[in-house]
Amino acid sequence: MTPERAPVPHSIGPSEREAYLAAEGIRNSLGLGLGPIADLHELIGLVAPGVDVAILEMPTGMDGMVLTDPVREKSVIGVATTGVPGRQRSSLGHELGHIVFKDNEAGLPHDPSARRPEEIRADTFSRHLLAPVGGVSAFLEDLNIEKGSARLRDVSSVVRHYQVSPNFALIQMHSEGWITTTQKTQWWPQTAHSLALRFGWIGDYRAMAAESLTPRPPQRLVENATEGYIRNLVSVQGLAALSGVDTDQQLRELEEAGIHPETIDVAWADLDAFGD
Ligand SMILES: [Zn+2]
Repeated sequence: MTPERAPVPHSIGPSEREAYLAAEGIRNSLGLGLGPIADLHELIGLVAPGVDVAILEMPTGMDGMVLTDPVREKSVIGVATTGVPGRQRSSLGHELGHIVFKDNEAGLPHDPSARRPEEIRADTFSRHLLAPVGGVSAFLEDLNIEKGSARLRDVSSVVRHYQVSPNFALIQMHSEGWITTTQKTQWWPQTAHSLALRFGWIGDYRAMAAESLTPRPPQRLVENATEGYIRNLVSVQGLAALSGVDTDQQLRELEEAGIHPETIDVAWADLDAFGD
């Protein structure tokens, strides 16, 4: 079933069109409709199967990057751990945008602060992927809001529903006429944290922040290392370090899951078979 492609909304100007269409195309091809994306890691895995995703600690001021190994034709999206979950999601979307538009293959240096066209395009792509204008409008209509009468509480609802930064929500709401330019400017300094505190979803926010603060090594890497553990090639300490937990916890979780190293007969003969 191929959903019919909706016309590009009038609010999408020529400068946003390419990014909008790419984001909308991905939503359509995956049957995501207009709802929030629960698991961006999984989505990236579906859109770009050869790309690994890692959440890791990065120097202050660095939100994300794409590393490409030209020889093995492998890319890794690395995004920073942060206590601001919406920021991590927008970074993941931004880096996926670079992959979708093959910006890194063009050999462009990655410098988001330079605000080159491809950086702006990656941001725009991320915004339309995470909080599609059609979805934001449908969501607000469901809340019985009328255009022009949206309040800060409604911005908060969009931020929570789509798990995006208030800036993404404000841009999308403004472009569809839900809020005025004055409101957009007035509410621009709002953070998701302040909205969550004010409108009662701080518990959810803290849970999301705890998740976005947790490093997540690339799934493929952990899977290979776990395979190595089963085959007596990787220590439980190594696996624990990779997962970012202490050895005791790692061992306990493995035991609970029934994952054990194989009993060794002649393990060394297997060395060549491990890895890719
Ligand atoms: Zn970038």
